[in-house]
Amino acid sequence: MQTDCHCVYSTGMNPKANNPPSPEEFQRKLGDFLKQQYGDKAVFVSMQPQPDTAQTDEPAEPGEPKPIKFEFNFKPKEIKVYLDRYVIQQDEAKKVLSIAVCDHYNHVKLAEAGKAEGEYQKQNVILIGPTGVGKTYLIKCIAQLIGVPFVKGDATKFSETGYVGGDVEDLVRELVQKADGNVRLAQYGIIYIDEVDKIATAPNLVGRDVSGRGVQSNLLKLMEETEVPLRSQTDLTGQIQAAMEFQRHGKIKKQTLNTRHILFIVSGAFDKLDDVVRARLRDAQIGFGATIRGEIPRDELLHRTRTEDFIKFGFEPEFIGRLPVRVVCKELTEDDLFSILKRSEGSVIHQYEQSLRAFGIDVLFTDDGLRAIAKQAAAEHTGARALITVCERVLREFKFQLPSSSVRRFVVTPELVEHPEAELHKIMTDTSYEGRAVARMLVEEWIQRFNQKHECKLRLEPDAAEAIVERALATHQPVRDICHELFKDYEFGLKLIRKNSGQTEFTLPRAAVENAEKYLSDLVLASYRGTAAGSGDPDTDDLR
Ligand code: ADP
Repeated sequence: MQTDCHCVYSTGMNPKANNPPSPEEFQRKLGDFLKQQYGDKAVFVSMQPQPDTAQTDEPAEPGEPKPIKFEFNFKPKEIKVYLDRYVIQQDEAKKVLSIAVCDHYNHVKLAEAGKAEGEYQKQNVILIGPTGVGKTYLIKCIAQLIGVPFVKGDATKFSETGYVGGDVEDLVRELVQKADGNVRLAQYGIIYIDEVDKIATAPNLVGRDVSGRGVQSNLLKLMEETEVPLRSQTDLTGQIQAAMEFQRHGKIKKQTLNTRHILFIVSGAFDKLDDVVRARLRDAQIGFGATIRGEIPRDELLHRTRTEDFIKFGFEPEFIGRLPVRVVCKELTEDDLFSILKRSEGSVIHQYEQSLRAFGIDVLFTDDGLRAIAKQAAAEHTGARALITVCERVLREFKFQLPSSSVRRFVVTPELVEHPEAELHKIMTDTSYEGRAVARMLVEEWIQRFNQKHECKLRLEPDAAEAIVERALATHQPVRDICHELFKDYEFGLKLIRKNSGQTEFTLPRAAVENAEKYLSDLVLASYRGTAAGSGDPDTDDLR
Protein backbone atom coordinates (compact mmCIF):
# COMPACT_ATOMS: atom_id res chain seq x y z
CA MET A 1 0.00 0.00 0.00
CA GLN A 2 2.80 2.39 0.91
CA THR A 3 4.56 1.87 -2.43
CA ASP A 4 1.30 2.52 -4.25
CA CYS A 5 0.81 5.78 -2.35
CA HIS A 6 4.21 7.09 -3.29
CA CYS A 7 3.57 6.10 -6.83
CA VAL A 8 0.47 8.32 -6.99
CA TYR A 9 2.30 11.23 -5.30
CA SER A 10 5.15 11.10 -7.74
CA THR A 11 2.62 11.91 -10.49
CA GLY A 12 2.24 15.29 -8.83
CA MET A 13 -1.36 14.91 -7.61
CA ASN A 14 -0.55 16.63 -4.34
CA PRO A 15 2.84 18.31 -4.60
CA LYS A 16 2.36 20.22 -1.33
CA ALA A 17 2.17 17.14 0.82
CA ASN A 18 5.31 16.12 2.60
CA ASN A 19 4.09 13.01 4.32
CA PRO A 20 2.52 10.03 2.68
CA PRO A 21 -1.25 9.90 3.34
CA SER A 22 -2.95 7.35 5.55
CA PRO A 23 -4.54 4.38 3.71
CA GLU A 24 -8.00 5.91 4.36
CA GLU A 25 -6.95 9.25 2.88
CA PHE A 26 -5.41 7.50 -0.05
CA GLN A 27 -8.64 5.59 -0.70
CA ARG A 28 -10.63 8.80 -0.53
CA LYS A 29 -8.36 10.60 -2.95
CA LEU A 30 -8.35 7.71 -5.38
CA GLY A 31 -12.14 7.52 -5.18
CA ASP A 32 -12.43 11.25 -5.93
CA PHE A 33 -10.00 10.91 -8.81
CA LEU A 34 -11.99 8.04 -10.34
CA LYS A 35 -15.24 9.96 -9.99
CA GLN A 36 -13.69 12.95 -11.70
CA GLN A 37 -12.45 10.81 -14.55
CA TYR A 38 -15.32 8.43 -15.06
CA GLY A 39 -18.32 9.98 -13.31
CA ASP A 40 -20.64 8.19 -10.89
CA LYS A 41 -20.23 4.85 -12.67
CA ALA A 42 -16.92 4.29 -10.94
CA VAL A 43 -17.81 3.00 -7.50
CA PHE A 44 -14.97 2.81 -5.06
CA VAL A 45 -15.07 -0.41 -3.14
CA SER A 46 -13.03 -0.79 0.04
CA MET A 47 -9.41 -1.70 -0.54
CA GLN A 48 -9.22 -3.60 2.73
CA PRO A 49 -8.65 -7.32 2.32
CA GLN A 50 -11.92 -9.29 2.16
CA PRO A 51 -12.70 -10.81 5.53
CA ASP A 52 -13.69 -14.00 3.83
CA THR A 53 -12.21 -16.62 1.59
CA ALA A 54 -15.06 -18.54 0.02
CA GLN A 55 -14.69 -19.94 -3.47
CA THR A 56 -11.17 -18.79 -4.13
CA ASP A 57 -8.70 -20.74 -6.16
CA GLU A 58 -6.32 -20.63 -3.23
CA PRO A 59 -6.55 -22.38 0.14
CA ALA A 60 -7.41 -20.15 3.08
CA GLU A 61 -4.28 -18.63 4.55
CA PRO A 62 -3.55 -19.37 8.20
CA GLY A 63 -4.56 -16.51 10.45
CA GLU A 64 -7.38 -15.35 8.17
CA PRO A 65 -10.75 -15.00 9.92
CA LYS A 66 -12.76 -18.21 10.05
CA PRO A 67 -15.82 -18.09 7.77
CA ILE A 68 -19.06 -17.73 9.67
CA LYS A 69 -21.31 -20.75 9.93
CA PHE A 70 -24.76 -20.29 8.49
CA GLU A 71 -27.45 -21.10 11.02
CA PHE A 72 -31.04 -21.82 10.10
CA ASN A 73 -33.47 -23.17 12.66
CA PHE A 74 -36.84 -21.79 11.70
CA LYS A 75 -40.12 -23.58 11.21
CA PRO A 76 -42.66 -22.42 8.59
CA LYS A 77 -45.13 -21.28 11.26
CA GLU A 78 -42.52 -19.13 12.98
CA ILE A 79 -41.74 -17.38 9.71
CA LYS A 80 -45.45 -16.81 9.03
CA VAL A 81 -46.00 -15.39 12.54
CA TYR A 82 -43.12 -12.95 11.96
CA LEU A 83 -44.50 -11.92 8.57
CA ASP A 84 -47.95 -11.34 10.12
CA ARG A 85 -46.44 -8.59 12.26
CA TYR A 86 -45.46 -6.58 9.21
CA VAL A 87 -47.42 -7.73 6.19
CA ILE A 88 -51.20 -7.39 6.13
CA GLN A 89 -53.17 -9.98 4.12
CA GLN A 90 -51.35 -12.18 1.57
CA ASP A 91 -51.89 -15.21 3.82
CA GLU A 92 -51.40 -17.72 1.06
CA ALA A 93 -48.18 -16.06 -0.08
CA LYS A 94 -46.90 -16.01 3.52
CA LYS A 95 -47.56 -19.73 3.93
CA VAL A 96 -46.10 -20.80 0.60
CA LEU A 97 -43.02 -18.62 1.09
CA SER A 98 -42.47 -19.82 4.66
CA ILE A 99 -42.46 -23.43 3.46
CA ALA A 100 -40.24 -22.69 0.44
CA VAL A 101 -37.72 -20.78 2.55
CA CYS A 102 -37.52 -23.57 5.16
CA ASP A 103 -37.10 -26.21 2.45
CA HIS A 104 -34.39 -24.18 0.75
CA TYR A 105 -32.28 -23.40 3.79
CA ASN A 106 -32.72 -26.82 5.37
CA HIS A 107 -31.40 -28.29 2.15
CA VAL A 108 -28.49 -25.83 2.24
CA LYS A 109 -27.69 -27.04 5.76
CA LEU A 110 -27.74 -30.68 4.67
CA ALA A 111 -25.67 -29.96 1.59
CA GLU A 112 -23.08 -28.07 3.65
CA ALA A 113 -22.86 -31.00 6.05
CA GLY A 114 -22.46 -33.36 3.09
CA LYS A 115 -25.71 -35.12 4.00
CA ALA A 116 -27.91 -34.16 1.07
CA GLU A 117 -29.28 -37.18 -0.77
CA GLY A 118 -30.63 -37.57 -4.28
CA GLU A 119 -31.80 -34.85 -6.64
CA TYR A 120 -33.00 -31.64 -5.18
CA GLN A 121 -34.96 -29.01 -7.03
CA LYS A 122 -34.30 -25.55 -5.67
CA GLN A 123 -37.38 -23.79 -4.34
CA ASN A 124 -37.11 -20.65 -6.44
CA VAL A 125 -40.33 -18.68 -6.36
CA ILE A 126 -42.45 -16.77 -8.85
CA LEU A 127 -44.69 -14.13 -7.23
CA ILE A 128 -47.64 -12.82 -9.22
CA GLY A 129 -49.42 -9.65 -8.16
CA PRO A 130 -50.03 -5.98 -8.87
CA THR A 131 -47.75 -3.24 -7.67
CA GLY A 132 -47.60 -2.22 -4.03
CA VAL A 133 -49.25 -5.27 -2.48
CA GLY A 134 -46.25 -6.41 -0.44
CA LYS A 135 -44.31 -8.74 -2.74
CA THR A 136 -40.94 -7.11 -2.09
CA TYR A 137 -41.84 -6.44 1.51
CA LEU A 138 -42.50 -10.13 2.18
CA ILE A 139 -39.10 -11.12 0.87
CA LYS A 140 -37.31 -8.27 2.63
CA CYS A 141 -38.88 -9.31 5.95
CA ILE A 142 -37.87 -12.96 5.40
CA ALA A 143 -34.28 -11.99 4.59
CA GLN A 144 -34.18 -9.80 7.70
CA LEU A 145 -35.54 -12.57 9.92
CA ILE A 146 -33.10 -15.23 8.80
CA GLY A 147 -30.18 -12.83 8.53
CA VAL A 148 -29.17 -13.19 4.89
CA PRO A 149 -28.43 -10.37 2.44
CA PHE A 150 -31.18 -9.37 0.06
CA VAL A 151 -30.87 -7.72 -3.35
CA LYS A 152 -33.61 -6.46 -5.61
CA GLY A 153 -33.20 -5.98 -9.35
CA ASP A 154 -35.48 -5.07 -12.18
CA ALA A 155 -35.60 -7.50 -15.12
CA THR A 156 -36.13 -4.65 -17.59
CA LYS A 157 -32.75 -3.13 -16.64
CA PHE A 158 -30.78 -6.09 -17.96
CA SER A 159 -29.74 -6.53 -21.52
CA GLU A 160 -28.86 -9.78 -23.22
CA THR A 161 -25.20 -8.91 -23.53
CA GLY A 162 -24.83 -6.97 -20.34
CA TYR A 163 -23.06 -4.20 -22.24
CA VAL A 164 -26.00 -1.88 -22.88
CA GLY A 165 -27.92 -2.41 -19.71
CA GLY A 166 -26.87 -4.06 -16.49
CA ASP A 167 -25.47 -7.52 -16.18
CA VAL A 168 -27.46 -10.12 -14.25
CA GLU A 169 -24.23 -11.15 -12.52
CA ASP A 170 -24.10 -7.68 -10.95
CA LEU A 171 -26.91 -8.87 -8.68
CA VAL A 172 -24.65 -11.52 -7.22
CA ARG A 173 -21.83 -9.02 -6.70
CA GLU A 174 -24.31 -6.70 -5.04
CA LEU A 175 -25.14 -9.47 -2.58
CA VAL A 176 -21.51 -9.41 -1.47
CA GLN A 177 -21.71 -5.65 -0.95
CA LYS A 178 -24.92 -6.07 1.04
CA ALA A 179 -23.14 -8.66 3.17
CA ASP A 180 -20.38 -6.11 3.89
CA GLY A 181 -17.93 -8.05 1.77
CA ASN A 182 -18.67 -11.34 3.46
CA VAL A 183 -18.68 -13.78 0.54
CA ARG A 184 -19.68 -16.73 2.72
CA LEU A 185 -22.85 -15.04 3.83
CA ALA A 186 -23.56 -13.67 0.36
CA GLN A 187 -23.80 -17.17 -1.08
CA TYR A 188 -26.90 -17.83 1.06
CA GLY A 189 -28.54 -14.56 0.04
CA ILE A 190 -31.83 -13.89 -1.68
CA ILE A 191 -32.01 -12.30 -5.12
CA TYR A 192 -35.34 -10.78 -6.01
CA ILE A 193 -36.06 -9.79 -9.60
CA ASP A 194 -39.13 -7.70 -10.30
CA GLU A 195 -40.92 -7.04 -13.60
CA VAL A 196 -39.95 -10.43 -14.90
CA ASP A 197 -43.14 -10.50 -16.99
CA LYS A 198 -41.55 -7.82 -19.17
CA ILE A 199 -38.92 -10.26 -20.44
CA ALA A 200 -41.55 -12.67 -21.74
CA THR A 201 -41.23 -12.97 -25.49
CA ALA A 202 -44.48 -14.38 -26.79
CA PRO A 203 -45.12 -12.78 -30.18
CA ASN A 204 -48.86 -12.59 -29.57
CA LEU A 205 -48.49 -10.33 -26.53
CA VAL A 206 -47.76 -6.64 -26.50
CA GLY A 207 -44.37 -5.41 -25.37
CA ARG A 208 -42.35 -8.08 -27.13
CA ASP A 209 -38.72 -7.70 -26.28
CA VAL A 210 -36.27 -9.44 -28.57
CA SER A 211 -33.56 -9.49 -25.94
CA GLY A 212 -35.97 -10.97 -23.38
CA ARG A 213 -35.02 -14.52 -24.29
CA GLY A 214 -31.34 -13.69 -23.84
CA VAL A 215 -31.97 -12.20 -20.39
CA GLN A 216 -34.01 -15.28 -19.48
CA SER A 217 -31.14 -17.57 -20.38
CA ASN A 218 -28.67 -15.41 -18.43
CA LEU A 219 -30.92 -15.59 -15.40
CA LEU A 220 -31.38 -19.30 -15.92
CA LYS A 221 -27.62 -19.78 -15.66
CA LEU A 222 -27.58 -17.99 -12.32
CA MET A 223 -30.55 -19.97 -11.04
CA GLU A 224 -29.01 -23.29 -12.04
CA GLU A 225 -25.49 -23.00 -10.72
CA THR A 226 -22.61 -20.94 -11.85
CA GLU A 227 -19.44 -19.29 -10.57
CA VAL A 228 -19.73 -15.52 -10.72
CA PRO A 229 -16.45 -13.57 -10.68
CA LEU A 230 -16.51 -11.04 -7.88
CA ARG A 231 -14.60 -8.54 -9.99
CA SER A 232 -16.58 -7.49 -13.00
CA GLN A 233 -14.79 -6.64 -16.25
CA THR A 234 -16.55 -3.29 -16.22
CA ASP A 235 -15.74 -2.48 -12.59
CA LEU A 236 -12.86 -0.02 -12.80
CA THR A 237 -11.97 -0.08 -9.15
CA GLY A 238 -12.03 -3.84 -9.10
CA GLN A 239 -9.61 -3.92 -11.97
CA ILE A 240 -7.30 -1.39 -10.27
CA GLN A 241 -7.41 -3.47 -7.10
CA ALA A 242 -6.44 -6.53 -9.13
CA ALA A 243 -3.54 -4.64 -10.71
CA MET A 244 -2.30 -3.53 -7.29
CA GLU A 245 -2.63 -7.03 -5.94
CA PHE A 246 -0.58 -8.29 -8.83
CA GLN A 247 2.07 -5.66 -8.07
CA ARG A 248 2.22 -6.73 -4.43
CA HIS A 249 2.04 -10.50 -4.72
CA GLY A 250 2.97 -11.19 -8.33
CA LYS A 251 -0.36 -13.00 -8.78
CA ILE A 252 -4.05 -12.26 -8.63
CA LYS A 253 -6.36 -14.06 -6.26
CA LYS A 254 -9.38 -15.00 -8.34
CA GLN A 255 -12.51 -14.77 -6.29
CA THR A 256 -15.83 -16.19 -7.41
CA LEU A 257 -19.15 -16.86 -5.81
CA ASN A 258 -21.16 -19.97 -6.52
CA THR A 259 -24.88 -19.36 -6.98
CA ARG A 260 -25.91 -22.87 -5.87
CA HIS A 261 -27.35 -21.76 -2.52
CA ILE A 262 -28.79 -18.41 -3.54
CA LEU A 263 -32.58 -18.32 -3.40
CA PHE A 264 -34.13 -16.64 -6.44
CA ILE A 265 -37.50 -14.98 -6.35
CA VAL A 266 -39.00 -13.37 -9.42
CA SER A 267 -42.17 -11.35 -9.63
CA GLY A 268 -44.39 -9.34 -11.88
CA ALA A 269 -47.92 -8.11 -12.44
CA PHE A 270 -48.49 -10.55 -15.35
CA ASP A 271 -51.26 -8.39 -16.72
CA LYS A 272 -52.40 -10.68 -19.51
CA LEU A 273 -51.63 -14.05 -17.95
CA ASP A 274 -55.27 -14.50 -16.95
CA ASP A 275 -56.24 -14.27 -20.62
CA VAL A 276 -53.90 -17.14 -21.41
CA VAL A 277 -55.35 -19.28 -18.61
CA ARG A 278 -58.91 -18.38 -19.60
CA ALA A 279 -58.23 -19.39 -23.21
CA ARG A 280 -56.81 -22.73 -22.11
CA LEU A 281 -59.77 -23.44 -19.82
CA ARG A 282 -62.19 -22.45 -22.57
CA ASP A 283 -60.48 -24.76 -25.07
CA ALA A 284 -60.59 -27.61 -22.58
CA GLN A 285 -64.28 -27.04 -21.94
CA ILE A 286 -65.11 -26.94 -25.62
CA GLY A 287 -63.19 -30.16 -26.01
CA PHE A 288 -65.49 -31.78 -23.47
CA GLY A 289 -68.55 -30.22 -25.04
CA ALA A 290 -69.27 -28.09 -21.95
CA THR A 291 -70.36 -24.48 -22.05
CA ILE A 292 -68.67 -21.67 -20.14
CA ARG A 293 -70.91 -20.30 -17.45
CA GLY A 294 -70.09 -16.81 -16.17
CA GLU A 295 -66.73 -15.02 -15.97
CA ILE A 296 -64.05 -16.53 -13.75
CA PRO A 297 -62.46 -13.78 -11.60
CA ARG A 298 -58.84 -12.86 -12.43
CA ASP A 299 -57.56 -14.03 -9.04
CA GLU A 300 -59.00 -17.49 -9.54
CA LEU A 301 -57.64 -17.74 -13.08
CA LEU A 302 -54.16 -16.85 -11.83
CA HIS A 303 -54.42 -19.53 -9.17
CA ARG A 304 -55.07 -22.05 -11.93
CA THR A 305 -51.96 -21.07 -13.91
CA ARG A 306 -49.92 -24.01 -15.18
CA THR A 307 -46.43 -24.26 -16.60
CA GLU A 308 -47.85 -24.40 -20.13
CA ASP A 309 -49.56 -21.02 -19.55
CA PHE A 310 -46.27 -19.41 -18.56
CA ILE A 311 -44.67 -20.85 -21.69
CA LYS A 312 -47.49 -19.47 -23.83
CA PHE A 313 -47.05 -16.15 -22.06
CA GLY A 314 -43.49 -16.05 -23.34
CA PHE A 315 -41.16 -17.87 -20.97
CA GLU A 316 -38.67 -20.49 -22.01
CA PRO A 317 -39.64 -23.92 -20.59
CA GLU A 318 -36.23 -24.24 -18.86
CA PHE A 319 -36.59 -20.83 -17.27
CA ILE A 320 -40.06 -21.39 -15.85
CA GLY A 321 -39.02 -24.92 -14.88
CA ARG A 322 -36.51 -23.40 -12.45
CA LEU A 323 -39.31 -21.57 -10.67
CA PRO A 324 -41.36 -24.37 -9.15
CA VAL A 325 -43.03 -22.37 -6.34
CA ARG A 326 -45.82 -20.09 -7.58
CA VAL A 327 -47.73 -17.62 -5.48
CA VAL A 328 -50.47 -15.11 -6.21
CA CYS A 329 -50.62 -11.92 -4.12
CA LYS A 330 -54.01 -10.29 -4.00
CA GLU A 331 -54.93 -6.68 -4.55
CA LEU A 332 -55.36 -4.65 -1.36
CA THR A 333 -58.72 -3.11 -0.46
CA GLU A 334 -59.34 0.17 1.35
CA ASP A 335 -59.82 -1.82 4.59
CA ASP A 336 -56.47 -3.54 4.05
CA LEU A 337 -54.78 -0.17 3.57
CA PHE A 338 -56.35 1.00 6.83
CA SER A 339 -55.04 -2.12 8.58
CA ILE A 340 -51.57 -1.50 7.18
CA LEU A 341 -51.56 2.00 8.66
CA LYS A 342 -53.03 0.89 11.97
CA ARG A 343 -51.55 -2.54 12.60
CA SER A 344 -48.42 -3.22 10.55
CA GLU A 345 -45.24 -2.79 12.58
CA GLY A 346 -43.77 -1.24 9.45
CA SER A 347 -46.61 1.27 9.09
CA VAL A 348 -45.57 4.51 7.46
CA ILE A 349 -47.19 6.47 10.29
CA HIS A 350 -44.38 5.33 12.63
CA GLN A 351 -41.98 7.19 10.36
CA TYR A 352 -43.98 10.38 10.75
CA GLU A 353 -44.27 9.92 14.50
CA GLN A 354 -40.54 9.44 14.71
CA SER A 355 -39.48 12.31 12.51
CA LEU A 356 -41.81 14.74 14.28
CA ARG A 357 -40.75 13.49 17.68
CA ALA A 358 -37.24 14.56 16.81
CA PHE A 359 -38.58 18.14 17.02
CA GLY A 360 -40.50 17.43 20.23
CA ILE A 361 -43.84 17.19 18.42
CA ASP A 362 -46.43 14.46 19.05
CA VAL A 363 -48.64 13.45 16.16
CA LEU A 364 -51.70 11.37 16.94
CA PHE A 365 -53.84 9.61 14.36
CA THR A 366 -57.56 8.99 14.92
CA ASP A 367 -59.00 5.86 13.32
CA ASP A 368 -61.18 8.04 11.14
CA GLY A 369 -58.13 10.02 10.12
CA LEU A 370 -56.38 6.79 9.11
CA ARG A 371 -59.50 5.73 7.20
CA ALA A 372 -59.49 9.00 5.31
CA ILE A 373 -55.84 8.41 4.31
CA ALA A 374 -56.65 4.82 3.26
CA LYS A 375 -59.60 6.06 1.19
CA GLN A 376 -57.48 8.54 -0.74
CA ALA A 377 -54.74 5.94 -1.20
CA ALA A 378 -57.16 3.31 -2.54
CA ALA A 379 -58.24 5.77 -5.25
CA GLU A 380 -54.67 5.87 -6.59
CA HIS A 381 -54.60 2.13 -7.45
CA THR A 382 -50.94 1.65 -6.58
CA GLY A 383 -51.54 -0.50 -3.51
CA ALA A 384 -49.83 0.44 -0.27
CA ARG A 385 -47.32 2.61 -2.11
CA ALA A 386 -50.07 5.22 -2.32
CA LEU A 387 -50.15 5.43 1.49
CA ILE A 388 -46.75 7.07 1.42
CA THR A 389 -47.85 9.40 -1.39
CA VAL A 390 -50.98 10.48 0.49
CA CYS A 391 -49.22 10.90 3.85
CA GLU A 392 -46.55 12.98 2.17
CA ARG A 393 -49.10 15.14 0.41
CA VAL A 394 -51.13 15.67 3.59
CA LEU A 395 -48.33 16.08 6.10
CA ARG A 396 -45.47 17.68 4.18
CA GLU A 397 -46.38 21.23 5.16
CA PHE A 398 -46.87 20.20 8.79
CA LYS A 399 -43.37 18.76 8.85
CA PHE A 400 -42.05 21.99 7.42
CA GLN A 401 -43.97 24.54 9.52
CA LEU A 402 -44.53 22.97 12.92
CA PRO A 403 -40.91 22.47 14.05
CA SER A 404 -40.50 26.27 14.00
CA SER A 405 -43.79 26.92 15.80
CA SER A 406 -44.88 26.50 19.41
CA VAL A 407 -47.26 23.65 18.54
CA ARG A 408 -46.26 20.49 20.36
CA ARG A 409 -49.13 18.16 19.52
CA PHE A 410 -51.59 17.70 16.69
CA VAL A 411 -54.12 15.11 15.65
CA VAL A 412 -54.66 13.71 12.18
CA THR A 413 -58.43 13.71 11.72
CA PRO A 414 -60.52 13.25 8.54
CA GLU A 415 -60.78 17.06 8.24
CA LEU A 416 -57.02 17.38 8.39
CA VAL A 417 -56.64 14.74 5.66
CA GLU A 418 -59.26 16.45 3.48
CA HIS A 419 -58.11 20.03 4.05
CA PRO A 420 -54.53 19.99 5.31
CA GLU A 421 -53.83 23.66 4.62
CA ALA A 422 -56.90 24.99 6.43
CA GLU A 423 -56.25 22.70 9.41
CA LEU A 424 -52.61 23.70 9.58
CA HIS A 425 -53.66 27.33 9.67
CA LYS A 426 -56.11 26.54 12.51
CA ILE A 427 -53.47 24.64 14.45
CA MET A 428 -50.98 27.48 14.19
CA THR A 429 -53.42 30.28 15.07
CA ASP A 430 -56.01 28.79 17.42
CA THR A 431 -54.71 28.82 20.98
CA SER A 432 -57.34 26.32 22.10
CA TYR A 433 -56.24 23.85 19.42
CA GLU A 434 -54.31 21.49 21.67
CA GLY A 435 -57.14 21.23 24.19
CA ARG A 436 -59.49 20.44 21.33
CA ALA A 437 -57.15 17.88 19.87
CA VAL A 438 -56.88 16.01 23.15
CA ALA A 439 -60.64 16.19 23.72
CA ARG A 440 -61.17 14.80 20.21
CA MET A 441 -58.93 11.83 20.93
CA LEU A 442 -60.79 11.18 24.18
CA VAL A 443 -64.11 11.11 22.32
CA GLU A 444 -62.76 8.56 19.89
CA GLU A 445 -61.36 6.45 22.69
CA TRP A 446 -64.72 6.43 24.47
CA ILE A 447 -66.53 5.31 21.31
CA GLN A 448 -63.97 2.56 20.71
CA ARG A 449 -64.45 1.23 24.19
CA PHE A 450 -68.23 1.38 23.84
CA ASN A 451 -67.97 -0.67 20.65
CA GLN A 452 -65.71 -3.25 22.22
CA LYS A 453 -67.96 -3.63 25.22
CA HIS A 454 -71.21 -3.87 23.28
CA GLU A 455 -69.95 -5.55 20.14
CA CYS A 456 -71.37 -2.97 17.78
CA LYS A 457 -70.00 -0.42 15.37
CA LEU A 458 -70.96 3.02 16.53
CA ARG A 459 -69.27 5.92 14.80
CA LEU A 460 -69.56 9.70 15.00
CA GLU A 461 -69.56 12.01 12.04
CA PRO A 462 -66.75 14.57 12.40
CA ASP A 463 -69.35 17.23 13.15
CA ALA A 464 -70.85 15.13 15.94
CA ALA A 465 -67.45 14.58 17.57
CA GLU A 466 -66.80 18.31 17.29
CA ALA A 467 -70.10 19.06 19.07
CA ILE A 468 -68.96 16.94 22.05
CA VAL A 469 -65.58 18.69 22.08
CA GLU A 470 -67.29 22.10 22.07
CA ARG A 471 -69.49 21.06 24.97
CA ALA A 472 -66.49 19.78 26.94
CA LEU A 473 -64.60 23.03 26.42
CA ALA A 474 -67.61 25.24 27.19
CA THR A 475 -68.71 23.40 30.34
CA HIS A 476 -65.26 22.25 31.57
CA GLN A 477 -66.79 18.81 32.01
CA PRO A 478 -64.67 15.71 31.30
CA VAL A 479 -65.28 14.24 27.84
CA ARG A 480 -65.95 10.82 29.33
CA ASP A 481 -68.74 12.14 31.54
CA ILE A 482 -70.39 13.92 28.63
CA CYS A 483 -70.25 10.80 26.44
CA HIS A 484 -71.54 8.63 29.23
CA GLU A 485 -74.48 10.96 29.83
CA LEU A 486 -75.27 11.34 26.13
CA PHE A 487 -75.16 7.69 25.20
CA LYS A 488 -76.37 6.01 28.39
CA ASP A 489 -79.51 4.65 26.68
CA TYR A 490 -77.74 3.62 23.50
CA GLU A 491 -76.69 0.22 24.74
CA PHE A 492 -80.28 -0.88 25.15
CA GLY A 493 -81.55 1.12 22.14
CA LEU A 494 -79.04 -0.27 19.69
CA LYS A 495 -79.69 -3.82 20.86
CA LEU A 496 -83.35 -3.33 20.16
CA ILE A 497 -82.66 -1.98 16.70
CA ARG A 498 -80.34 -4.88 15.95
CA LYS A 499 -83.07 -7.26 16.93
CA ASN A 500 -85.65 -5.48 14.79
CA SER A 501 -83.72 -4.75 11.66
CA GLY A 502 -80.40 -6.57 11.94
CA GLN A 503 -78.57 -3.25 11.68
CA THR A 504 -75.22 -3.32 13.50
CA GLU A 505 -73.44 -0.23 12.18
CA PHE A 506 -74.46 3.25 13.21
CA THR A 507 -73.00 6.59 12.18
CA LEU A 508 -74.33 9.42 14.31
CA PRO A 509 -74.64 12.97 12.98
CA ARG A 510 -74.39 16.20 15.02
CA ALA A 511 -78.17 16.03 15.68
CA ALA A 512 -77.55 12.85 17.69
CA VAL A 513 -75.37 14.85 20.08
CA GLU A 514 -77.61 17.90 20.25
CA ASN A 515 -80.60 15.78 21.17
CA ALA A 516 -79.39 12.28 21.89
CA GLU A 517 -82.61 10.96 23.41
CA LYS A 518 -84.83 12.04 20.54
CA TYR A 519 -82.37 10.78 17.95
CA LEU A 520 -82.25 7.34 19.52
CA SER A 521 -86.00 7.03 19.89
CA ASP A 522 -86.45 8.01 16.23
CA LEU A 523 -83.99 5.29 15.26
CA VAL A 524 -85.80 2.70 17.36
CA LEU A 525 -89.18 3.70 15.94
CA ALA A 526 -87.83 3.48 12.39
CA SER A 527 -86.55 -0.02 13.07
CA TYR A 528 -90.01 -1.11 14.23
CA ARG A 529 -91.62 0.35 11.16
CA GLY A 530 -89.24 -1.51 8.97
CA THR A 531 -89.65 -4.97 10.47
CA ALA A 532 -92.37 -5.20 13.08
CA ALA A 533 -95.37 -4.82 10.80
CA GLY A 534 -96.87 -8.26 10.44
CA SER A 535 -93.73 -9.87 11.85
CA GLY A 536 -95.76 -11.93 14.25
CA ASP A 537 -92.85 -11.73 16.68
CA PRO A 538 -94.44 -11.56 20.12
CA ASP A 539 -91.46 -9.72 21.60
CA THR A 540 -91.56 -6.87 19.14
CA ASP A 541 -95.33 -6.79 18.97
CA ASP A 542 -95.48 -6.31 22.74
CA LEU A 543 -93.03 -3.51 22.64
CA ARG A 544 -94.98 -1.70 19.97
P1 ADP B 1 -44.60 -4.66 -4.46
O1 ADP B 1 -45.76 -5.62 -4.32
O2 ADP B 1 -44.75 -3.79 -5.67
O3 ADP B 1 -43.28 -5.33 -4.37
P2 ADP B 1 -43.81 -3.46 -1.97
O4 ADP B 1 -43.69 -4.72 -1.19
O5 ADP B 1 -42.53 -2.86 -2.43
O6 ADP B 1 -44.75 -3.66 -3.24
O7 ADP B 1 -44.65 -2.39 -1.15
C1 ADP B 1 -44.24 -1.05 -0.97
C2 ADP B 1 -44.41 -0.67 0.50
O8 ADP B 1 -45.79 -0.68 0.85
C3 ADP B 1 -43.74 -1.64 1.43
O9 ADP B 1 -42.43 -1.25 1.73
C4 ADP B 1 -44.60 -1.59 2.67
O10 ADP B 1 -44.24 -0.52 3.49
C5 ADP B 1 -45.98 -1.30 2.11
N1 ADP B 1 -46.79 -2.52 1.90
C6 ADP B 1 -47.13 -3.06 0.72
N2 ADP B 1 -47.93 -4.11 0.88
C7 ADP B 1 -48.09 -4.27 2.20
C8 ADP B 1 -48.82 -5.21 3.00
N3 ADP B 1 -49.55 -6.20 2.45
N4 ADP B 1 -48.76 -5.08 4.35
C9 ADP B 1 -48.04 -4.09 4.92
N5 ADP B 1 -47.34 -3.16 4.22
C10 ADP B 1 -47.37 -3.24 2.87
